[in-house]
Amino acid sequence: MKSAGASNKNQDPAKTNDNPAKTANRAAKPNISLVRDAHDLESLPFFDLGLIPEMCERVATIGYTTPTPIQREAIPLILEGHDVIGIAQTGTGKTAAFMLPLIDSLLCSSRLSGHPSRTSDHGSGNHSGKHKERPRVLVLEPTRELAMQVLEASTSFTQGMKSSDGRLLRTVVVYGGVSQRTQERDIVKGCDILVATPGRLNDLLGQRVISLGSVEFLVLDEADRMLDMGFLPQIKRITTHVPPDRQTLMFSATLSHDIEELARRLTHDPALIEVGGRRKPAEGVTQKIFSVMRLKKPELLLKLLKEFPDAGAARTLVFTRTKHDADRVAHVLAHAQVPVTKLHSDLTQSERTRALQDFKNGKFDTLVATDVASRGLDIEDITHVVNYEPPMSPDDYVHRVGRTARAEKTGIAITLVSPEEEPLMRDIEKRIGTEIERTQVEGYAPPPPIEMSNAERRRLKGWSRR
Ligand code: AMP
Repeated sequence: MKSAGASNKNQDPAKTNDNPAKTANRAAKPNISLVRDAHDLESLPFFDLGLIPEMCERVATIGYTTPTPIQREAIPLILEGHDVIGIAQTGTGKTAAFMLPLIDSLLCSSRLSGHPSRTSDHGSGNHSGKHKERPRVLVLEPTRELAMQVLEASTSFTQGMKSSDGRLLRTVVVYGGVSQRTQERDIVKGCDILVATPGRLNDLLGQRVISLGSVEFLVLDEADRMLDMGFLPQIKRITTHVPPDRQTLMFSATLSHDIEELARRLTHDPALIEVGGRRKPAEGVTQKIFSVMRLKKPELLLKLLKEFPDAGAARTLVFTRTKHDADRVAHVLAHAQVPVTKLHSDLTQSERTRALQDFKNGKFDTLVATDVASRGLDIEDITHVVNYEPPMSPDDYVHRVGRTARAEKTGIAITLVSPEEEPLMRDIEKRIGTEIERTQVEGYAPPPPIEMSNAERRRLKGWSRR
């Protein structure tokens, strides 16, 4: 695995050359330049990354002016056809970092006189229009919410863009927990980019409803989360359906031994991009800890929600460790007239979708959720994240806290810590390399530990043994 530096200057010409289609894609760009005056385009930083003018225009319309660090690093490498492993903090713009160059590549190759860019017997050449139901890009996501979010981003990036046969590029999403029929119908209508969770995709493959034989680009997003969720067997099965000469991109918040192992299995000579620290919350997050007696947590949470400096304008995501706690905390808040909704995996898909929608559009300004909402979910302007208790792992802490201060904004992350949870919290602090000050609120804080001499302690021990 090679490491990409500040830019793609370390490109390996041999690697680029051994994929003539992709080299051809790049060479084709001047022929398809569109609309804009070259002078204008040169001033667009996204244009400097090698994206075609049409993509740069789309990005500008969406409102992105400057590429984020992961975009600056990843886009040129992906456009050159490299396999990439991206290690990036949450909220760094990684969806666009992989979607933009992949859409760019789709447009370029499908316009190259309609020639398919691969000739394997997996059923290639769909971009000439014969097999419009066969995706060329496959993005795997660990949760339905993330899959829907990538669908949204992809639909926005491809708006108005057409493939060689004049069809608008289509993105289709498949995930479990909802009717498969609707998804099947959606696939048949045309599918250039397929976003999927592993379980449902495996079902569809098993029933031969979909073929992945035309996939040229495979993306494993939130790879560490997929492994945590036990998706490895499904991922292995899915990848046997994808042509081996695809381009593979893996994104993960952390680079563990397991991720390296998976990368060895799925990628070919990948470039490694790391943006920011591996285990640190984003710079813009102010982290706070409130020491609190366990039984006083609901009351303190209520007090904090009501007293946030910008209460009313605040948009708060409260994390609990269990579904049961999420229900309980949401109930307590609702009872106290806090506009609250909840999200966890015991809810039906439509309940989950509605909860997210209601939180996103401001109907409720507080969402109580389990870790199902901790990875990658992009909800604008979350001002506060509250951990009702410290999560079990430092990675989960980083992910949860990463729901605020996204896209270089600022936010506040509060963790409620009872005395029994102190060791867990201290471990998290050690792993993220930050010591967080404890705040005590009178009436909620635990009593100070009783100072005891060794003799007193010995006496107490002897007494308790009797
Ligand atoms: P992601 O990490 O992909 O979930 O993206 C986090 C947020 O950053 C999303 O709301 C994106 O729309 C936004 N974003 C991504 N790239 C840029 C950019 N270059 N400029 C401004 N916002 C961006």
